[in-house]
Amino acid sequence: MARYHVTAFYCFASLSEDEVARVETALSDLAEAEKDLGGLVILAPEGINGTIAGSEGTVSKLKEVVRSFEPFHEILFKDSFCRLAPFPRFKTKRREEIVTLHRTDLVPTERSNNHLSPEEWNEMMAQDDVVVIDTRNAYETRLGMFEGAVDPNIDTFSEFGEFVQQSGWQRDQKVLMYCTGGIRCEKAILEMQQLGFENVYQLEGGILRYLKEFPDGKFNGECFVFDHRVAVDRSLEASERFRLCPHCGDPGDQRITCVRCSRGVVICESCRKRAERNTCSKDCSHHFLRQQSLAESSSSSSE
Ligand SMILES: [Zn+2]
Ligand SMILES: [Zn+2]
Repeated sequence: MARYHVTAFYCFASLSEDEVARVETALSDLAEAEKDLGGLVILAPEGINGTIAGSEGTVSKLKEVVRSFEPFHEILFKDSFCRLAPFPRFKTKRREEIVTLHRTDLVPTERSNNHLSPEEWNEMMAQDDVVVIDTRNAYETRLGMFEGAVDPNIDTFSEFGEFVQQSGWQRDQKVLMYCTGGIRCEKAILEMQQLGFENVYQLEGGILRYLKEFPDGKFNGECFVFDHRVAVDRSLEASERFRLCPHCGDPGDQRITCVRCSRGVVICESCRKRAERNTCSKDCSHHFLRQQSLAESSSSSSE
């Protein structure tokens, strides 16, 4: 296959146990028929959230199946591409939330809550009284952000509310927020509204949809994604630059040669600073440390 098609989607909709089961069955049936389908779809009483991949035909069949359920008629799909299969298999999972933020209390009830299309987003960003917030975690914002955006530098979403309260912004401050595909902002905007902010807007479809319409727009760098591609570039193609660091699992772009086995590898910036992590794997790191301590003990015993 020349190229895999990848699509990300979500929809908040209150689903009964029965509806969840019917969606699950329809998706499993499709996966049974289309062997190239891969990815993960999460189902919860609050809705659906997934990223899947396959041939162009398989992906459009999946879209049809999802849209055939009444609550998901208007669901937005955000497409990107990949040369290697980004998922080994297809799975559905049932969870409490469709995006794990540990906030089952924050569930959007309206289909639309100050959503901005990519064009509207550009217009709003050009105004000088706006603050742009990236609602993603620090390991994601490091790879790329919108021009001039504020990075809350959070490790988990639960720190977001605290960040907003300590920001010192007036309650009427105009705020624009964005994330990868839009889902996190659906909850983040509710949290800000609960805190009394009324002038908050969210980028519909997130960075992924924005890049489709404005690859040379106001987003700089690459966009972290939650699959083997690690990130996508501004053309929505799999990153050539970032890999997951074999030592800590964070994305990195430091190309090194393993100090033990001489294999080429990409590690992250912070692991680069530790001698034993200038290695290709945990295994080489372990052996490197052992060699060092053996060398130390033999030099101390010869004294
Ligand atoms: Zn690392
Ligand atoms: Zn090695």
